[in-house]
Amino acid sequence: TKPTVAIVGRPNVGKSTIFNRIIGQRMAIVEDTPGVTRDRIYGNADWVNQEFHLIDTGGIDTGDEPLIEQVRSQAELAIEEADVILFATNGREGITPADEEVARILRGAGKPVVIGVNKLDNWQMQDFVYEFYNLGIGEPVAISGSHGSGFGDLLDEIVKHL
Ligand code: GDP
Ligand code: MG
Repeated sequence: TKPTVAIVGRPNVGKSTIFNRIIGQRMAIVEDTPGVTRDRIYGNADWVNQEFHLIDTGGIDTGDEPLIEQVRSQAELAIEEADVILFATNGREGITPADEEVARILRGAGKPVVIGVNKLDNWQMQDFVYEFYNLGIGEPVAISGSHGSGFGDLLDEIVKHL
């Protein structure tokens, strides 16, 4: 059975964009179950012959929970379901308290984490990636979900742990 990669991270960092980028033209399974938003959240992907399931935990409807509770439930779900966790962050905004909370939960989980430092759309922004070493988990990789840059390195890092 295929391993699972789960994307976690606070709203608006680009999880859905990253998800679509990774599944590419492949058919995403749209789960028509309660609690799941219209976002596609389950997909199949592969990279260098390694196939995996991809889950975007951000697409799961958590209702009116406060932000910190939402990211907490998403991180816990990812820990339960995933073999590798893709922690999406916004490299332009830097580390926020919600990011730190996600990192705190993931640190205790004993699962491999790859940090996608998103929205680094040009080379002048690449250095913003270094700050994310301070989260103390996994390798931060500079990416741009909009442009597709960095995804080779990101996926190499992910499949290394599968
Ligand atoms: P989510 O809430 O984490 O799923 O984030 P979305 O994928 O919905 O993206 C939130 C916003 O960020 C949207 O307006 C995207 O177009 C934008 N966005 C996503 N990735 C990038 C990126 O790499 N660069 C820039 N500049 N914007 C991005
Ligand atoms: Mg989303």
